[in-house]
Amino acid sequence: MMKKIPVGVLGATGSVGIRFVELLVNHPWFEITALAASERSAGKKYRETIQSRLTFELPAEIGDMAVQACEPGLPCRLVFSGLDSAVAGGIEKAFANAGYAVVSNSKNHRMDTNVPLLVPEVNADHLGLVVHQSFGDGMIVTNPNCSTVGMVMGLKPLLDNFGLEAVHVVTMQALSGAGYPGVPSVDIIDNVIPYIGGEEDKMETEPLKIMGRLNKDHIDYIELPISASCNRVAVLDGHLESVSVKLKTKAEPEELIRAWNTYRGEPQELDLPLAPQQPLRYFTEPQYPQPKLHRDLGKGMVVSIGRLRKCNLLDYKFTVLSHNTVRGAAGGAILNAELMVKKGMLGSV
Ligand code: NAP
Repeated sequence: MMKKIPVGVLGATGSVGIRFVELLVNHPWFEITALAASERSAGKKYRETIQSRLTFELPAEIGDMAVQACEPGLPCRLVFSGLDSAVAGGIEKAFANAGYAVVSNSKNHRMDTNVPLLVPEVNADHLGLVVHQSFGDGMIVTNPNCSTVGMVMGLKPLLDNFGLEAVHVVTMQALSGAGYPGVPSVDIIDNVIPYIGGEEDKMETEPLKIMGRLNKDHIDYIELPISASCNRVAVLDGHLESVSVKLKTKAEPEELIRAWNTYRGEPQELDLPLAPQQPLRYFTEPQYPQPKLHRDLGKGMVVSIGRLRKCNLLDYKFTVLSHNTVRGAAGGAILNAELMVKKGMLGSV
């Protein structure tokens, strides 16, 4: 058995941070040795900072840990970041410069030339960018916006098998995507909010990098027009998306379904601890997938697809569901780190 790798969580008191802790508590390779957040939380016991939001059994030794400030000097060399994007940019850079491997959820460094924007099933090879970073022993690796992840996983098998000419997507996004305490209850009960700041731009640009080609020290983006409309709905976890696609070559519905159901990537080949055996699951029931029923499939790491049918404007339309704080955030980042361990990138941590 390998010795567990000590890890820290930056932004440990937020929606994503709590998910990190939940997923790391019994992780076979990683062991939490530091929890950090803002000055508001620093010095308090971790349990006190998250008590009203705890939905899993927190081991006593983790609950008793004192929350630390987000400054290098934490007893680990790998940190997961669930930091508010207002502060993540500078803090993550400071950690990378101090020799830490930073695996982040925040938007700040996603589109930096040398920084991988990773969905491990889709573009594991983009980790090759890290050698071109200038952080010495440190590095930054990111995962995409939570609504981008599900859509990209649904699109990549179609791109590989049939080519893609255009994508249109309308999202119905969960409340946990807005962080804690998030959207005021009186604003969202009996309501849908047809605006999520910055979200549509991220959905239209991040996939072009993720599905792009590694070219030495940068990624050549793919050319693909994507039109996104994003809505906040009164669901706790799980982003549902209605996607329409125009394909480059003609294909029958069963060919698309086969492409999804047989899709595998490096996480499956390497049998990584958090990798679901079948990352994409197509449902034939016409009323599926649904957030409440399917978001936790494969510990929240499976992306569910359903409702494939002809589109009168493009070629096909279908529905995608993914868990936003697991596959779309903490789980995705942990899968990134598992891949980095297997590739020997964290050998010195
Ligand atoms: P959140 O619930 O608001 O949590 C933000 C975290 O950042 C808290 O731990 C907070 O600590 C910490 N923080 C705030 N100001 C700080 C400062 N000045 N110094 C140090 N720490 C500070 O947000 P979230 O939803 O977890 O999202 C975290 C990040 O992940 C964001 O960048 C978000 O865009 C991204 N993301 C979120 C999701 C999602 O579904 N929620 C999905 C993908 C990506 P205190 O509690 O001490 O204030």
